Amino acid sequence: MAVWHAPGRINLIGEHTDYNDGFVLPMALPMGCTASVEGARDGWSVVSTQTSGTVSVSPSGLTGRDSVPEWASYVLGALWLLHDDGVEVPPVRISVDSDVPTGAGLSSSAALVCSVVCALDEHLGLGLDAAGLLALSRRVENDAVGAPTGGMDQLISLRGEEGHALFCDMRDLTSEAVPFTPADSGLALLVVDTRAPHRLVDGEYAARRRGCEAAARQLGVSALRDVTDAEEAVSRLDDEELQRYARHVVTEDARVLDAVEALRAGRLDELGPLFTASHASMRDDFRITVPEVDTAAETLLSAGAIGSRMTGGGFGGCVIGLVPAAEVDAAGDAVRRAFADAGFGEPSLFTAEAAAGARSV
Ligand code: ADP
Ligand code: MG
Repeated sequence: MAVWHAPGRINLIGEHTDYNDGFVLPMALPMGCTASVEGARDGWSVVSTQTSGTVSVSPSGLTGRDSVPEWASYVLGALWLLHDDGVEVPPVRISVDSDVPTGAGLSSSAALVCSVVCALDEHLGLGLDAAGLLALSRRVENDAVGAPTGGMDQLISLRGEEGHALFCDMRDLTSEAVPFTPADSGLALLVVDTRAPHRLVDGEYAARRRGCEAAARQLGVSALRDVTDAEEAVSRLDDEELQRYARHVVTEDARVLDAVEALRAGRLDELGPLFTASHASMRDDFRITVPEVDTAAETLLSAGAIGSRMTGGGFGGCVIGLVPAAEVDAAGDAVRRAFADAGFGEPSLFTAEAAAGARSV
């Protein structure tokens, strides 16, 4: 039996830059998914501790993909793609168990997919290298499930390192671990899962993606990553919406590079203003925040955080703050109070340290 654990993630900074060939700085979470793959007598099946019932497919089901519940396609998708690639896939039983909350923006999907892909790689003796594991994991989410994610989630889930964030270049998919240990600076990374109901996510995500592509075309570059002077680029765009989108992406890429410099130099205090500027850019230019995340970000700042921002694709999800360790409890209480006062549902809060990426267990 092959058993692998792969983590969920938090993106420290660099939002909606991934599909613009830009930069991101995620870290792996201690929470993750454990996948076990074992040989079976006949058929292919998957069972999750988080859902009820076993989903089984027959040999013909290895090619058909519409007949299983969506969650099972995150697992069976790897089998379908390997089958498409001409790999002989013997009968297997796959079991998964995860403690990453789903749909909170902590990438339970990448934890699931990457743990399964790594366990299958071992069980089937595929011998995939780092690039191969990443490519297959991305294809499962993009092609088998049909979720248009940019690839960051799988990259960090596979390659995260304990005590480090991962500086990723989403153009060439190279990555570099940079130290991130807020406790050494008397700080903690406080995560607020706002539990805000996600609204219009798919349509809004697609609209942002299209807008960024249109802006890049008008600017004569292959992706917004190639633009370095935000204001000069904005002056060459005539559409107000495209101007805002371009300004967010170009300035966000610059903030990631500044954040990496700060981490390399061990100057964590410099991350604070970068977080806060990133949040303002997502709120005012990219317009992907909702009242719950704005309230959480603002409350963390007034409760002593040196910086705060929404993390993840937007329209709900989580907010992170860099909070002096001694003030974590008070900051959490302040956020709970602000949510109650605003009539929002109760948020869930936790502090997180950077954990390791996918590993055999
Ligand atoms: P996120 O990745 O931010 O948590 P997604 O919408 O990308 O949100 O992925 C969540 C989906 O992944 C769930 O709706 C479910 O289909 C699937 N999923 C994640 N973890 C599990 C699990 N342990 N068991 C079954 N399905 C899971
Ligand atoms: Mg996901």
